[in-house]
Amino acid sequence: MNCCVILITLQLDRLSILYIHDAVIRISDFRRTLLAWYRENRRDLPWRRTRDPYRILVSEVMLQQTRVSTVIPYYGRFLKAFPTVASLARARQDRLMKLWEGLGYYARARNLQAAATQIVADHGGRIPRDPETFSKLPGAGPYTTAAVLSIAFGVPLAAVDGNVKRVISRLFDIDRLIQPNDPEVQTLAQRLMGKRKGDFNQAMMELGARVCTPKRPACLLCPVRTFCRSFKAGTVDERPVVLSRKARPHLCVVAGILKKGVSVLIGRRPDRGLLGGLWEFPGGKVERGETLRMALEREFREELGVEVEAGEPVARVEHAYTHFSVTLHGLPCRLRRGVPVARIHSAIRWVSPAALGRYAMPEANRKLWRELSGRLAV
Ligand code: SF4
Repeated sequence: MNCCVILITLQLDRLSILYIHDAVIRISDFRRTLLAWYRENRRDLPWRRTRDPYRILVSEVMLQQTRVSTVIPYYGRFLKAFPTVASLARARQDRLMKLWEGLGYYARARNLQAAATQIVADHGGRIPRDPETFSKLPGAGPYTTAAVLSIAFGVPLAAVDGNVKRVISRLFDIDRLIQPNDPEVQTLAQRLMGKRKGDFNQAMMELGARVCTPKRPACLLCPVRTFCRSFKAGTVDERPVVLSRKARPHLCVVAGILKKGVSVLIGRRPDRGLLGGLWEFPGGKVERGETLRMALEREFREELGVEVEAGEPVARVEHAYTHFSVTLHGLPCRLRRGVPVARIHSAIRWVSPAALGRYAMPEANRKLWRELSGRLAV
């Protein structure tokens, strides 16, 4: 059992090996095997056809926590709208959020624009090559820094994302919980890396995404099976060690459709925080002991300073976010007293149904609108 992993690197003439307990990995053989497999099997992805550091940065930010197949159409549309760092820095936030709508983790979009602004202001519009300078850009953590700089400029930094973490934990049969930015995993990945830094990082990620998958890895097809400690030990299914998942909280939420003429009222969520900068129908969480109508009337009072009379719910959607799920109920409502003002939202707006599609909304609100628009005379 590897209660703790002891890492010793030996340099014997030009033969470099990693010794971990009784596991020996010949680094040069491992690299050669992995890179040969990558050359033959790599997917032809749009961001692999460029060395432009801006395009690589955009792809790496979009790919965080998001599937390749989801990212591809967003990547194309985003670069068409903002082909350069300067154009992204100048972009209107609503347009930016609209192009990001549905991709999730909206802070990424805001950070990416803040990074572009900083690159224009402090670096003449050129993405810095130096890791220390790059890592000061908004949103640039150790993974993004290593991935962008290794792929675009060949900087020797191992990029350790979830895929690479899983591959390393199995290759070296690490039997403890791996922490975020785990120094031991980072050291092992760094030590395995050779001269072709960008290709090595992408090969490790590709292996994790397509062969050494979280469930049912394809060990019998794996190019580096002979190097893999957990394959030999029969512990593949137990690696990486994970904490049992806590149940995802579920929220009951109401949203009100308040009309003025043909227009409906929407509010823009504050920039910071969950789903920041997106537009939504006013409403919020149903508190203990409240009916849906009571909750909606209270939310309008608190958020907009108006009294409304809520009707019966006319639509209901379920949606799961990463850390929680919601049931969102849509209720029409009628203004009884006051003029809505933005107390919590950064802005509010009356919008015609035809124009609603131009506003970036959270997925649950978008689904609700699809349900509602057929039923309300809007
Ligand atoms: Fe992953 Fe299996 Fe390959 Fe080991 S042999 S690296 S567990 S796919």
